[in-house]
Parts: sequence; structure tokens; C-alpha cells
Amino acid sequence: MSENLNLFTSTQDVIKEALAKLGYSEEMYELLKEPLRMLTVRIPVRMDDGSTKIFTGYRSQHSDAAGPSKGGVRFHPDVNEEEVKALSMWMTLKAGIVNLPYGGGKGGVVCDPRQMSMGELERLSRGYVRAISQIVGPTKDIPAPDVYTNSQIMAWMMDEYSHIREFDSPGFITGKPLVLGGSHGRDKATAEGVTICIKEAAKKRGIDIQGARVVIQGFGNAGSFLAKFMHDAGAKVIGISDAYGALHDPNGLDIDYLIDRRDSFGTITTLFENTITNQELLEVDCDILVPAAISNQITEKNAANIKASIVVEAANGPTTMEATKILTERGILLVPDVLASSGGVTVSYFEWVQNNQGYYWTEEEVHQKLHDTLISAFNNIYETAQTRGVNMRLAAYMVGVRRTAEASKFRGWV
Ligand code: GLU
Repeated sequence: MSENLNLFTSTQDVIKEALAKLGYSEEMYELLKEPLRMLTVRIPVRMDDGSTKIFTGYRSQHSDAAGPSKGGVRFHPDVNEEEVKALSMWMTLKAGIVNLPYGGGKGGVVCDPRQMSMGELERLSRGYVRAISQIVGPTKDIPAPDVYTNSQIMAWMMDEYSHIREFDSPGFITGKPLVLGGSHGRDKATAEGVTICIKEAAKKRGIDIQGARVVIQGFGNAGSFLAKFMHDAGAKVIGISDAYGALHDPNGLDIDYLIDRRDSFGTITTLFENTITNQELLEVDCDILVPAAISNQITEKNAANIKASIVVEAANGPTTMEATKILTERGILLVPDVLASSGGVTVSYFEWVQNNQGYYWTEEEVHQKLHDTLISAFNNIYETAQTRGVNMRLAAYMVGVRRTAEASKFRGWV
């Protein structure tokens, strides 16, 4: 089975188990085991050399029972249908975990932005919005940033959508620049959410954040802000990585220097000679391990070698279900992706609310609301895991799926 199909089918398996534990019928699983809608589009883009390239894109809407679908758009060479489907299902769970009136959605375009000019990226972003414009909108499905997309891309997409609809539509997309209706704190939100989860998990395990040894796989938006937050909290960040390799120093890395030198895709290790591989980084001796890059990183092959006592998933799907079992059996506290990375969509929701009100909040207000939301989500899931005797992933799925399942029931769908 391919890795992506495995990601999708194992997500289905855990949703099935969560629904059964909550006492829902088999029909509820039949409804929620696949996205309600999946659109595949082909996007012609004029390249700088005058040629035309056709890109493939997707938008998956897992559910809209609890409210409009919500979720990011990923620009990456490995984007594929199964992965986008799984990612949209995780968005339903994330929204449920932080109790937002949304269902899950996700988009992606198969491309490599690292090899494209700004002009080509702008034409691709606008082309993607034209291709999916029929099924998205501020009250239907609201996109946002994800891997290799950023606030500039959100701005182009919002502008294109506003042209198509012939009115200014800031609520069409979140993760926008501040001057176009973005929210304070959205850029740091995922990392802030992960930080809150790390601190709560450390309390449960009696680990002092001061001096705790942290390894972060990935130095993109989430990974780099997280490294800074951990460093500022007094932890020792002893390892980080990018797509090309990893840096490890048991005495702690100079995070400010690394952040200063990284490029916009989070590339940094190419500047150094003494690098190790991403796989080696995961097995480094540390207290807290944060996979913040891509999926399928901790598998049955390396789960027995992980030395951290807490693993916090900042990326989507970094640990396979087999590895989840191994880590849990070994007594490692695993904070699952759908909880740990829900800070991004939480502040996206705040952004959308501000757009709908036309009234904007201070950074402090956003920070406080995010903090309260994530602390109660973490503890809700931790207690569910304890009282139901299940691992944190299953507990998170149980909490996450409930809102959409209840909404579907009240609507009379099941
Ligand atoms: N792409 C982010 C995620 O996977 C954020 C989604 C959003 O803000 O809607 O959670």
C-alpha cells in the first residue's frame, strides 16, 4: 500500500473506532469516512519563458455539517488526491477539538514553488482560485495557508476571488496580510498552539521546560517560530532540520542566528557542513521531540529508537498508526497532530470573525483567546484519554469528530 493511501485508510480506521466508542451507528461512519466533495482541476499557467504548463490541483470538502468547510492550500510536488482527502478529514477533527463552527476542507496544487518565480506563483494562485471558485466562498469553504503557501499567496487569491464576485471578500480566505484584513498573531498561531501543548504535556510528565532538551524536525513557519518560543521559554533546542538535512548540537543551537539566515522555505542546513540526516535527528537523545515537517516520519521502523519522553506532532500525520501504538506502549506521551497543530485554524477562525464584524482585535486579545482555547482542548483530550483508557490520538478523534457527527444528526442526514 502506498504511504498516502495508508495515511487515508488509517485515518478512516481511527474515525471508525472513535465513532464506535461514542456509540454512533455504522451509517455515521459511512457518511464521514470520505469527503462530501472532491474537486480535481487542471490549471494552465503561462511560464516566464513563454511556455504554458498545466498544473493539477485539488479541493476536498470533508464536511459542511457544522458550518462552512475550512482548511489550507498546500503547494508541494508530493500533493496527491489521497493526501488532500486525509488532510481535509483532519481539518474536521481539528475544528471539532477547538470547538469551531466549521467542517474540514483542504486544497493542494502539485508544483514546486522553490523552482518558480513570483510571477509564475501569482498566476498559479489566481488560476487555482478561478478553477475552484464555484465551490468556495466565505460561507461555503474558506481556504488558508499550508505547506509552501503564505500571506502573499493568500492576498493574490483573495484579490482574484474579489474580482470574480465583484465585491471585496476578505472572509473568503484567512492568513492574509494585516493590511488586507489579516489577524494579529495568525503567522505565529500554529507554533503558539504547539508551545501551549508542549508546556501542558511537560507539566503532566513533570518535565521542567527550563533546560529541557528539544528537537524540532522542520524549520518552516511552524518549526522556526516554535524554535524561537522554546528558546525564549528557557528550553535548549538541540536539533532542527530542513528538507535537506539536520543540525544537532547537544549544547544547544543559536536559534536567533539560524532564523536570521533561513530562506522563506525554511532552508538553512545547506549553509553548514556537519549535518546529520532527518532520520538520525529523530533518534537523537532529547526530552521533547516535535516533528514539524511532513507526514510518515515516525514509523514502525524507527519508533523503538525514539528517545524523547514527549512527542508533539506539529506537522500533519508525521507518525503512522503502527508507530503510535509502539510509542504509547513505550510510555511516551504523544500529543497528536489534530490537537497540537490546531492553533492555526483557531486564529484563522478569529480572522474570519473579525472580517465578518469589520472590527479588529488587538494582538493581546488574540493571544489570550488562543491560549484559553488550546489549554482547555488539551486538558479535555488528556482527561478523555485517561477516563476512557485510550491513547491521546483516539481521544483526540473522539473529541474532534463529535461536533460534526452531532450536527449531521440534527440536520437529519443520518
Ligand atoms: N493549514 C493549517 C492546518 O492544517 C491551517 C488551516 C486554516 O487556518 O484554516 O491546520
